[in-house]
Amino acid sequence: MMNLKKIFSSEEIGLLLEALQFAAIKHRHQRRKNSEAVPYINHPIEVAITLWQVGGIREITTLMAALLHDTLEDTDASAQEILAQFGDKVLHLVQEVTDDKNLSKQQRKLKQIETAPNKSIAAKQIKLADKICNIYDVAHSPPRNWSLERRQEYLDWTMKVIAGLRGTNSALETHYDTILSKARATIAQLNN
Ligand code: NDP
Ligand code: ZN
Repeated sequence: MMNLKKIFSSEEIGLLLEALQFAAIKHRHQRRKNSEAVPYINHPIEVAITLWQVGGIREITTLMAALLHDTLEDTDASAQEILAQFGDKVLHLVQEVTDDKNLSKQQRKLKQIETAPNKSIAAKQIKLADKICNIYDVAHSPPRNWSLERRQEYLDWTMKVIAGLRGTNSALETHYDTILSKARATIAQLNN
């Protein structure tokens, strides 16, 4: 049973704020791909708050890794920096949710499907929250220039990744299912 009333130490709150600051600095020049081009940092905050509010996650290392989840993949942040500032547990979690940039886009998509079942519970929770946020965005504030077909294909791909993440956190999994069917309905309506 999750302890939703867990009390956090000042050290834990300090680390969470440091992770938020680190991500904000690293993503400072980046925007999401939607037409409004919202600041990139909104997305990792959304992922962390989804873990907190929907998943009931109270593990500080998981919440920190959620804030940092796109820093290795999308910024100049190094593993050494994350290790020095946040320790090996957080670093390993961020690495678990980071794609190998040496692979082609298509290989990366396939690898996410293949490796999802073997990830740690905490990494699976972060991936669930990340996909929830991204499918919501694909329905409501999609990347500029994406056709309806491409948006639908993105939703289809996330389903295959999510299949390998199930049995991890039922609230997050149910929320994914709800957001997915709403996203499909939203996109189908645009198709008419
Ligand atoms: P990308 O990986 O390039 O783009 C999606 C990623 O961008 C998300 O996973 C998210 O990742 C990030 N992102 C940033 N802003 C947004 C936003 N507003 N909404 C949603 N995501 C955002 O996608 P791909 O090019 O890999 O394409 C996805 C699918 O589309 C694939 O399955 C591919 O096969 C298919 N495809 C279809 C094409 C077509 O024309 N029909 C062409 C190319 C691909 P993060 O959280 O990490 O930032
Ligand atoms: Zn992300």
